[in-house]
Amino acid sequence: MTAYPLQVLVLRKTKLGEADMILTLLSSDGRIVRAVAKGMRKPTSRFAGRLEPGSATDLMLAPGRTFEVVSDARSVNLHAGLRADYERSTAASVVLDVLDKIAVEGQAEERLFGLACATLSALERATQEHLRATVTGFLIKAMAMHGYRPHLDSCVSCACAAEGQAGFSLEAGGVLCPACGGSAPQLNASSREMLSWLLSATMDAIADADLPSREVAETFALMRQFVTYHLPARLKALEFYANGSGT
Ligand SMILES: [Zn+2]
Repeated sequence: MTAYPLQVLVLRKTKLGEADMILTLLSSDGRIVRAVAKGMRKPTSRFAGRLEPGSATDLMLAPGRTFEVVSDARSVNLHAGLRADYERSTAASVVLDVLDKIAVEGQAEERLFGLACATLSALERATQEHLRATVTGFLIKAMAMHGYRPHLDSCVSCACAAEGQAGFSLEAGGVLCPACGGSAPQLNASSREMLSWLLSATMDAIADADLPSREVAETFALMRQFVTYHLPARLKALEFYANGSGT
């Protein structure tokens, strides 16, 4: 069978047998592809260092029975800066894990690949203080692409303006006015404004912005709940990041 080129982002690698690795890849058209890199764990492998999670790579793939087979790999952007420190690498793990859960094998969401690469580049160069807002910006955009764009302009239940302190319905994916809110998680007006901004701003702009820390913490916590509510799989990297890292 003839090999074909595919631009991918490496999301995850899993050991297979003695020396091989199974790669979970996000293709440039937004699909999940699984491929085996034979001999990748041998120190002499030509794939060594080129197929680490977070690397954007041009692959040559040969169709296989269970997995595609990597026949060549040329690195486009290793995003090596992501592995330079702990805070950055745990933030990048959240992005890779959420992409893995959000992209469906065989189904394509073309915008995901662009968002993924823009997010990883932004995380690479953002200062420590800006990492959490960058992760939050990724989460809200990824959910919007996945069909869960948060409704922030009016009460999702009664369509009033829901000004001031409002609730947020995880189930309905939007703001609730005090009359409709009940026991929904609360969202203050400035955090709601920040969520709208995170939806529309570029990842670069988010990584550069000095945002108020209270609102960053509140929007991150809310998006964490929102993602966890709607994605069926357990998001270990997100839980770890939320509990472990202090920024
Ligand atoms: Zn209402």
